[in-house]
Formats: sequence, structure tokens, C-alpha cells
Amino acid sequence: MRVLVLLGAPGAGKGTQATILAQRLGLPHVATGDLFRNAVRAGTALGREAHGYMERGELVPDAITIEMLIERLGRPDAAEGVILDGFPRSRAQAEALESALLVRGERVEVALLVDVPAEELVGRLAGRYVCRLGGHPYHVILNPPRVPGICDVDGSPLEQREDDRPEVVRARLTRQLAPLQSVIEFYRARGILRAVDGRQPIDLVSRGLIEALDPVTTA
Ligand code: ADP
Ligand code: ADP
Repeated sequence: MRVLVLLGAPGAGKGTQATILAQRLGLPHVATGDLFRNAVRAGTALGREAHGYMERGELVPDAITIEMLIERLGRPDAAEGVILDGFPRSRAQAEALESALLVRGERVEVALLVDVPAEELVGRLAGRYVCRLGGHPYHVILNPPRVPGICDVDGSPLEQREDDRPEVVRARLTRQLAPLQSVIEFYRARGILRAVDGRQPIDLVSRGLIEALDPVTTA
């Protein structure tokens, strides 16, 4: 099982890169943010519980998040591996993932950090539109879709996320950068952290990530 973790601040480009890597590597893209948004839309108990935290730009509590992710990892399409986007987001989540994989004799292969300075993130989030069906991200200026308002990947309509409003963006950056740092340190200590400069154009970031993944075969 190949477990790849994509790390980055809100707006760094995790979803963009996870979509590309998923196609290149043939692994499912598992984004906890998408799982929560689907649950909110479906009106499940999980969705009702997560919604308030998301609206305030806070992290959803670890217990709920970990349970949801472990359940997702157990589904048949994840048997060969996954690209995790937006998980883990706290040290407790990183530890829980490590333990859950260990009982299967597995481990995280690499943690890929899409590194973008905080001052760039606000503009990226303010101009972001995501598709309704798959959460594929676009940007009005930096990364527009081929047909305005329509997702290139699955044809579904684009919409703005309710937590991409300026006041929630500020809250997310204030509350989520410190826990991200603790996750970065967690993987650095295990020797599997690889960082790529996320300020580059999307295709160069992808290339950097692929090289970080497998420096030998892409050399
Ligand atoms: P972004 O793409 O901006 O990084 P996500 O779509 O990954 O945001 O997540 C949206 C929201 O869902 C987060 O602000 C948070 O409230 C919640 N969330 C997503 N993943 C996690 C997680 N691993 N732990 C706790 N909360 C999460
Ligand atoms: P995350 O999942 O980390 O929150 P996204 O992948 O949703 O980030 O990207 C955030 C916004 O920035 C989107 O509007 C996306 O189109 C745009 N974006 C992503 N990568 C780049 C890049 N390398 N250069 C410029 N804009 C980018």
C-alpha cells in the first residue's frame, strides 16, 4: 500500500496537486475537507457536527476526523494506496495514522510539503472556485477553467466555498498554521519530509513533487 501525504497551508495547492498526482500515479485522492463537505451536504450527523468548526475556520476535533479517515482507508479503492490531502493536520492525527498503518505492516511513504509563504495564501483563497462534484480547485486569475464556470475534469459547476470568505480565511490561517508546523516536524523527525516551492507554476510544482517522490526514475 502506498500512502502519500500532501501537506500545506490552506490555499497552498494541495488539492490542485493531489488531483494531478492521483491521475499520474493511479491512486485515489482522499481529502478530509471534501469528505466533511460531502457530509455537510448530505446532512449526516458527522456533517452537522463538523459544520460549525469549518464555518469558524477551526480544525474539526481529532476524534471525529481520525475515525472518518480510518473508515475511508478501509474502503476497497484504497487497497493499493492513497494520496492524503489535508490529513493529518495535527500531531495526534499523524500519530493515529501511523498506528493504524502499523497494524497492517504499512507506513507513510513520504510527506510532501507544498511550501507557500503566508502572505500569498489570502489571494489564492479569495480567488478560488471549486467544482461541486469532485472539489477540483480553480482560480479566477491564476488557474481559470477552460470553459468559465465549468470543471475541466468532471464538467460539474464551479462555486465558491463558504469558508473562503475573507473573515474565515483569516481565522483559518491564524488557527491552522501552528498545527501544520507540528505535523511538518513529525515527518521531518522520521526523515520522510520533502518540501517543494509552491510559489512556482502548477506544472513545475507537480514536477518537483514527482521528483521528490522518486528521484531515481525521473532523473
Ligand atoms: P484547504 O483546502 O483550504 O486546506 P480543506 O478543504 O482541506 O481546506 O478543509 C476545509 C476545512 O475542513 C478545514 O478548515 C477544517 O475545518 C476541516 N478539516 C479538513 N481536514 C481536516 C483535518 N484533517 N482535521 C481537522 N479539520 C479538518
Ligand atoms: P489547498 O487544497 O492547499 O487549499 P488549492 O489546490 O485549492 O489549495 O489551491 C488554492 C488556490 O490556489 C486555487 O484557487 C488554485 O487554483 C490556486 N493555485 C494552486 N496552485 C497554484 C500555483 N502553483 N500557482 C498559482 N495558483 C495556484
